[in-house]
Amino acid sequence: MYMNHEELWRSALGELEFEVSRANFATWFKDTTIRGVEDGVAVVVVPNAFAKEWLEKKFHKQIIKSLRSNAPDVRNATYIVQPPSDTAPQNPKKKSQQSETIEEQLEFKEFSVDRETNLNPKYTFESFIIGSFNEFAHAAAVSLSKNAGSLYNPFFVYGGVGLGKTHLLHAIGNQIKFDHPNYKVLYLTSERFVNELISVLQNREPLNAFKDKYRNVDVLIIDDIQFIAGKVKSEEEFFHTFNSLYERGKQIVFSSDKPPAAIQNLEERLRSRFEAGLTADISEPEYEARLAILKSKVNGREFAPLSDVLEYTASRIQKNIRELEGALNIILAKSKLKGRPLTFDEAKQSLDQITMRLKRVVTTSQIIKAVSEFYDLGESGLFERSRRREIVRPRQIAMYLLREDFHGSYPFIGQKLGGRDHTTALHAYGKISRELKQNLKLVEEVKLIRGKIYEN
Ligand code: ADP
Ligand code: MG
Repeated sequence: MYMNHEELWRSALGELEFEVSRANFATWFKDTTIRGVEDGVAVVVVPNAFAKEWLEKKFHKQIIKSLRSNAPDVRNATYIVQPPSDTAPQNPKKKSQQSETIEEQLEFKEFSVDRETNLNPKYTFESFIIGSFNEFAHAAAVSLSKNAGSLYNPFFVYGGVGLGKTHLLHAIGNQIKFDHPNYKVLYLTSERFVNELISVLQNREPLNAFKDKYRNVDVLIIDDIQFIAGKVKSEEEFFHTFNSLYERGKQIVFSSDKPPAAIQNLEERLRSRFEAGLTADISEPEYEARLAILKSKVNGREFAPLSDVLEYTASRIQKNIRELEGALNIILAKSKLKGRPLTFDEAKQSLDQITMRLKRVVTTSQIIKAVSEFYDLGESGLFERSRRREIVRPRQIAMYLLREDFHGSYPFIGQKLGGRDHTTALHAYGKISRELKQNLKLVEEVKLIRGKIYEN
């Protein structure tokens, strides 16, 4: 199939959109174009040096992969900087824009992130579905939005990937901005904070402008704060930013993939500040919530899937809402090609393919069984209330795997392994993760256990 360069890049972007987080996509990919493919090397045009660095360092592999899946002869990609004013006049997309359907234009608009706040207007409380998995975090976020700076400060929400942390953070920002248009609200990822600081330092620009930017806000929302851990200079700068805001009663909101106590290499004084307000976790959505999310997302869409298709989707895709959306989008795209909703069998076939391709699906009992067998503990060994090392150690490894591969919440894991407290699970996870960095024997053991878990 022949594709011109723009089409190639657009399809590649379509795939990347599902692979990277929304925030990353909006920040780094939105204003990119392609100049062409020369000798198998795609020349990607980016608006600034920042984007170039990010695409090169963080997303290069994914970019190549998605280019190749559309054009197998692409071997590599390079990135060149061209500020937007240079690219606009010669941008050939202009002409075809008229022929875009209203739906496509609307979809593009969904990414129109507000330049001043970095907030995506699409992520609101209205579009956020509530279930027992996120009820507490949601309720806290709503009341906090009504009492910015005075109720829970900071607010720290944590949970695994694709479970709605970013959505919730934007919803907080959007709500506060809606109620108080004069408030300065600023959303960014901690990676962005780190990178801006690095660039300021490298270019020997005065630090004051950087400091002011983050201190002159009423609400500072930092997504994925875990990335700041271990970056000493950034931690230090952020510590002062935090204090300055906190002392003046400005609202600070964080998200992270782990609770503060489990973020490795995080400076102690930051950890204690992160813990000083309210922390809330988002766990994995239960079946009913997954179904409700799917229903809300197909509402009003063309060729909306039949309810048995939605039910099957909700039962097959369990871990994460981003994957749920991705699966739904594939079904909707196929329906659009056919000009009708898919039949149950057609949808089932697509979903079975997707779930095969998605991660290996694993159950808690597979993990527990594999660990017990590996350490020769018998059926009930892991559940014994024993402190013997021969038991404690395998149990910690089981807890680690339940977290890492099954993405269970800490309370769930504690419960599962003999009714223990969530802090036991948290501690086990932290301990094994840390050890895996140094202990090669353990690395080998975990690898063998995983081999058992996934052998069929
Ligand atoms: P995270 O930041 O935790 O990785 P995101 O906030 O990016 O997850 O969520 C992934 C996708 O799932 C987004 O498109 C988001 O809108 C959607 N999503 C997450 N939680 C919900 C929810 N409770 N209701 C509706 N959509 C959700
Ligand atoms: Mg996120």
